Amino acid sequence: MNKAENINTGSKVGFVSLGCPKALVDSERILTKLRSEGYEIAAEYAGSDVVIVNTCGFIDSAKEESFSAIKEAMNENGKVIVTGCLGVDEGAVREVAPDVLAVTGPQQYEQVVSEVHKAAPQPHEPYVHLVPPAGLKLTPRHFAYVKISEGCNHRCKFCIIPSLRGDLVSRPIRAVLREAEKLVEAGTSELMIISQDTSAYGLDLKHQTETWKDRDIRAHMTDLADALGDLDVWVRLHYVYPYPHVDDVIPLMAEGKILPYLDIPFQHASPKVLRAMRRPANEAKVLERIKKWRSICPEIVIRSTFIVGFPGETEEDFNYLLNWLQEAQLDRVGCFKYEAVEGAVANELPDPVPEDLKQDRWNRFMAVSQKISADKLKKRIGMEMAVLIDSVDDNGSAIGRTYADAPEIDGQVHLSGAEGLSVGDMVMAHIDDADDYDLHATVVHDEEDEWDW
Ligand code: SF4
Repeated sequence: MNKAENINTGSKVGFVSLGCPKALVDSERILTKLRSEGYEIAAEYAGSDVVIVNTCGFIDSAKEESFSAIKEAMNENGKVIVTGCLGVDEGAVREVAPDVLAVTGPQQYEQVVSEVHKAAPQPHEPYVHLVPPAGLKLTPRHFAYVKISEGCNHRCKFCIIPSLRGDLVSRPIRAVLREAEKLVEAGTSELMIISQDTSAYGLDLKHQTETWKDRDIRAHMTDLADALGDLDVWVRLHYVYPYPHVDDVIPLMAEGKILPYLDIPFQHASPKVLRAMRRPANEAKVLERIKKWRSICPEIVIRSTFIVGFPGETEEDFNYLLNWLQEAQLDRVGCFKYEAVEGAVANELPDPVPEDLKQDRWNRFMAVSQKISADKLKKRIGMEMAVLIDSVDDNGSAIGRTYADAPEIDGQVHLSGAEGLSVGDMVMAHIDDADDYDLHATVVHDEEDEWDW
């Protein structure tokens, strides 16, 4: 279970949060609401008046994890509310755990909270003042995810997110900026901007203009990035599709306003496979644009994910992908073997790729991306880079990240000479060595004035 400190003697709610950063943000919202009402968040099943399980239903392995978390919560406690992506299929949840108190879908914060009210009486005195102004965060205080929209207008054939979460609904830009500002005031030094499709932010709001700090600002990714850049912390953009206006945020990276880091889930490179996947923005001449981005901002780091073994992917398509990757020289890359997801349109596609061939392609893909990563990291040896500290131990060692690495998904910096440092500190470090995915470095000095990548 996620641990949270106990503050008062109100009803106790246990919480299990599974799934992606977007689900984590949902969990944070529910927890913030419950704490503001005076509920205590318990670290153990025993003694909790009710347990909430926020589930992930994206792929079969995630579903399995969610089902076993529900079963465990039922065995250990017996009063369980299920929410999140798996909650859209109440029948499946009730098949494994018929007696759960309630089943709600993703973003149904109010329903979850009202089910908690039924299961465990709301404390009389709301301890509003005990809730930190930035809300409750399940991530360490020095970094935080900021969700800017829900849902997605695309219909990629392998994805069931739109049927789980609906079409794009963007948060008003002032609400996003206010949340970001509160997080920074509370000590956060790195903001991860997340959504299903960050570049589509504000489309549903017709990019309406609001006033923020005496200036007009549109609900649009470029304006958002610009305004977040004024907060003077690391701002990292995730899940960006290569629409033409993405070009406009590259100068902001070159100026140092936001991190020169772009997470673009390309998923494939072969035009035929991309069409079969029905991916957005696949017509763009991406390689040329990446070259242009690098000429404007040479430090830019591009992260992406790919799927190999999509139905109909031929050896020719796969080789196209490998050559493309060689040319694109992406810095950070994740790869998944295609997995049928219940309810996805892609399940109906002909020519499934056999499992052993998927594995073979995955191995070949990873060998290429590993070599690119190792070569790129080797070039960092001898540099001095700003490192944000994620953890420290008693032996003068610490683990941190440079601007090139997002928490939990990218590489790390293993630091020596870190005596006296604390989590969340920003230091300059000399890069001594590199392996395939990580750097090894020695602390040079505290970086107080400027972050220099
Ligand atoms: S862009 Fe495609 S993969 Fe991403 S959430 Fe939308 S439909 Fe799913």
